[in-house]
Amino acid sequence: MEQKYDVIIIGAGIVGLATAYRLLQYKPDIRLCILEKEELIAKHQTGNNSGVIHSGIYYKPGGLRATNCRRGYKMLLEFCQEENIAYDVCGKIIVATQDYQLPLLDVIFERGEANGLQGLSKLDIAQLKEHEPHVQGLKGLWVPQAGIVDYMGVAHRLHEKILKAGGEVILGQKVEKVDNRGTQCELVTASKTYIGKLMINCAGLYSDKVALYTRDSLDMRILPFRGEYYKIKPEREYLVKNLIYPAPDPNFPWLGVHFTRMIKGGIEAGPNAVLAFRREGYKKLDINTAELLDTIAYKGFRKMAMKFWRQGMDEYYRSFFKSAFTRSLQTLIPELTEDDLIEGGAGVRALACGDDGALLDDFVFYEDKHVINVCNAPSPAATSCLSIGQTVAEMAMKQL
Ligand SMILES: Cc1cc2nc3c(=O)[nH]c(=O)nc-3n(C[C@H](O)[C@H](O)[C@H](O)COP(=O)(O)OP(=O)(O)OC[C@H]3O[C@@H](n4cnc5c(N)ncnc54)[C@H](O)[C@@H]3O)c2cc1C
Repeated sequence: MEQKYDVIIIGAGIVGLATAYRLLQYKPDIRLCILEKEELIAKHQTGNNSGVIHSGIYYKPGGLRATNCRRGYKMLLEFCQEENIAYDVCGKIIVATQDYQLPLLDVIFERGEANGLQGLSKLDIAQLKEHEPHVQGLKGLWVPQAGIVDYMGVAHRLHEKILKAGGEVILGQKVEKVDNRGTQCELVTASKTYIGKLMINCAGLYSDKVALYTRDSLDMRILPFRGEYYKIKPEREYLVKNLIYPAPDPNFPWLGVHFTRMIKGGIEAGPNAVLAFRREGYKKLDINTAELLDTIAYKGFRKMAMKFWRQGMDEYYRSFFKSAFTRSLQTLIPELTEDDLIEGGAGVRALACGDDGALLDDFVFYEDKHVINVCNAPSPAATSCLSIGQTVAEMAMKQL
C-alpha cells in the first residue's frame, strides 16, 4: 500500500519535529508526515541529553553552530514561554582548575563576546565561590544566559502542535530503503511504501546510513559516542547550585564532565565520552558486531583513533572505574566522594567524522533534488532546534 505526501521527514527527534513544525507554519496546507522507527518519539539523543540551554559561548563565530545556537536560544525561550514549558535561565560557571586552561578561558570569553553574549564576566576564586560555594579552581567565567529545560517536554509539545496543524507522526516505521525517482522519492519500510516530493533525513545516529540510501558516496560517517552520567545523592545535592563546567579542551567536541541541575530536580554529573560498540548502545556491553566492524573499517575512524587512542583509553578507564570518574569530578568539587554518586543514565552522541579523521565541528546539511540530509546535528542542536528547523524548512520551501 502506498501513501503520498509533499514532505516526508525521517526521524522524530527534536530536529525532525522542529523542522516539521516550522514547515507547517510556512505552508499550513502541506501534506507532511514524520516516519519514526521507534514506538515513541525522541527516544534517542533528544531523550537522553543533559537538558542544558546553551548560550552559544563555545562556538566559532560565524559558523552554523554559533548562529543557530544564538537564534535558536531566543526561539526556544519564546516557545517555552508561549507553551508554558518550565525552564530556568540560571547561568553557569566555566572553571579553569589548571594553569594550562587559563588561556582557554580567554578564548571562550572572546568567542562569547563575538557571538553577542552580554554580561559575561571573568571570576577570581572568591567570585567563583559566590556562585558555587563548593567549587575549587584558579579562575572562571560567569555565563548568565545558560539555562536548563526538559527537551522531552519540548519534543512532546512540538509533536502535539504538528498533529494539530494537520501533520502526521507515524511511529514504528523504520525506513529501510529510499528510491529517488527524479520526480519523487519512494521510502520503503517493512510494511509500507511512502511517496514524497521531498524527503528530509533527520535520522540522528543513522543520518549517514539514511543519506547513503540516496547518495553514491559521503565523505563523513557518524561515530556513536556514549556519554554516561552519575547522579548526586539527594542529601549531597547542596554541593551544586546550578551548572558547573570545566574549561573545555579545544581538541574535543564535548565539554568535559560537568555538573548539571536538572529542571525536574536532581543533579547530574557527566557525561563522559566513550566509543559505543553499537549506535544505540546505552550500556557498556551493548555490542552490534556489524555496526562495530563498520566503524572500525571506516578510514576516518582509524585516522581519528591513531590520533586520540590515549584519550580514548582514559575515557574507557573512567567509564569502568567509578573512582576514576569521581577523581575527574573532584577537580571541580573536591568535597565530592565516590559514595555521593549513584549510577545515572546514558546518552549516545552522533558525532560526524570526516574521511580525514577530523570530527566535524559544524552542523552539516546536504541538499540534493528531492532530498535534504541533516547529517551532523550535535550539541547544541537541542537548544538550536527551532532555528535548525527554520533553516531546513527554508531549504525545503525552495523545492516545493
Ligand atoms: C549525552 C548527550 C548530552 C547532550 N546535551 C545537550 C544539551 O545539554 N543541550 C543541547 O542543546 N544539546 C545536547 N545534546 C545534543 C542534542 O541532544 C542532539 O544534538 C539532538 O537531540 C539531536 O536531535 P536529532 O533529532 O537530530 O536526533 P535524535 O534525537 O537522535 O532523533 C533521531 C531520530 O531518528 C530516528 N531514526 C533513525 N533512523 C531511522 C530510520 N531509518 N527510520 C525512521 N526513523 C529513524 C531515531 O529513532 C530517532 O528518534 C546532547 C546529546 C547527548 C547524546
